Amino acid sequence: MPVPNKEQTVNIYCCGPTVYRDAHVGNLRTFLLADLIVRALKMDGQKVKLIQNITDVGHMSEDFQGEDKLLQQAQLEKRDPFEIARKYEAGFHQDLKRINILAADSYPRASETIDLMLQTIATLISSGHAYATDQGSVYFDARSFPGYGAISGNKLDALKPGHRFEYGDEGDKRFHADWALWKSAGNRTEMVWESPWGKGFPGWHIECTAMSLKLLDSRIDLHVGGIDLRFPHHENERAQSNAVIGHEAVAMWVHGEHLLFEGRKMSKSSGNVVLVQDLITRGLDPLALRFALLENRYRSQMDLTWAALDAANATLRRWRTAMATWGDSDEVIADEEITTAIAKDLDTPRVMLRLRTIEKSTSHADATKRAIFLHADALLGLDLNRPIEVHPLTPEQSELLNSRAAARIAKNWSESDRLRDLLALAGIAINDGPDGQSWSWI
Ligand code: AMP
Ligand code: ZN
Repeated sequence: MPVPNKEQTVNIYCCGPTVYRDAHVGNLRTFLLADLIVRALKMDGQKVKLIQNITDVGHMSEDFQGEDKLLQQAQLEKRDPFEIARKYEAGFHQDLKRINILAADSYPRASETIDLMLQTIATLISSGHAYATDQGSVYFDARSFPGYGAISGNKLDALKPGHRFEYGDEGDKRFHADWALWKSAGNRTEMVWESPWGKGFPGWHIECTAMSLKLLDSRIDLHVGGIDLRFPHHENERAQSNAVIGHEAVAMWVHGEHLLFEGRKMSKSSGNVVLVQDLITRGLDPLALRFALLENRYRSQMDLTWAALDAANATLRRWRTAMATWGDSDEVIADEEITTAIAKDLDTPRVMLRLRTIEKSTSHADATKRAIFLHADALLGLDLNRPIEVHPLTPEQSELLNSRAAARIAKNWSESDRLRDLLALAGIAINDGPDGQSWSWI
């Protein structure tokens, strides 16, 4: 990355959530990538500014062409779409806190940035990069931007008509690869705004152009998102942003690979969508998610499992316990191997391995171990200095544990799950291993 000097702030934009459902652990993997970058830069003494948008309008569903994800969910929950948006937005912030993601400098909402988007669209029309149609929509003219395809490799001549469109009714486009900046409201009555082209709503890609250019002064050093956003979202955003400012807006695009769960893509239909709340219900520390994710490289596809999360939770506890036995000093020491691993494209698995080596090392004094772990924790965000609570079980808790063990032996799974949830509420985590049930305080 062309790193600005230390006086200059590193400007980062990370595509945020579409707030029509809770963020799953895959989404959080991408948000954690941005957090890791922020922490690594800060550790290096850089000033950082992070903007993360909240998409609460205009993101169409792949499953139902022409349906806005939010409006669809609002119909399902029989609630006002803005109420849905605020509900899931609050859930998103709660999840970020639970996994120790440092707050961004701002979280602009698409629905509150409409004027800025309208101005950006007007600029694109006046410079010949966009056109309005008789039906009241505005499209980006893909052929007006010769550099299209540079991030994803999808050049315009390779995009055949009939590749998936974002909206069902795009008959008024001049060219099949053009995309909507503004969509005429048509029959839609909710989440529509007045515009110079009539009532309508913004396309998804334009919000990121409008917000990133405005809030980061047209200089985005790093733009982060999941790999699925590379095309068309980021390819289209790049064309829009570069067309507005006349040069490359983003110095570096960083795409995190996807997370699978138990070997499969997370999807509602497969029933394997995992949320932070599911970890908590299982009695795991949410930071076990962070731990497990850090054990993999962001560029590699990763298969997360409950076994990996249980193991991460156990190691996290072991490290916290060890930290307390290594003393109580606030001294920090940078370990060269860790610093080098991070500088080499965020090699977090190597950092975790190094910490395991130091934990077991006989050549490091306890105080040194503690100081290295404390220093690394500023990067890892695992709350390693958190004291482990030790207090005795109440008779009721012992009874619950015994009943749970009995239910498991009797293969009464629904009862054993029910008791596990009750124990989790009491702050007790259960781990099922080959030797039966074990427990720990959450
Ligand atoms: P969304 O809320 O669907 O707009 O997605 C928010 C972010 O999560 C985007 O950067 C996506 O690329 C990313 N994302 C979606 N699914 C996954 C996944 N399974 N693993 C990692 N990142 C994902
Ligand atoms: Zn975006």
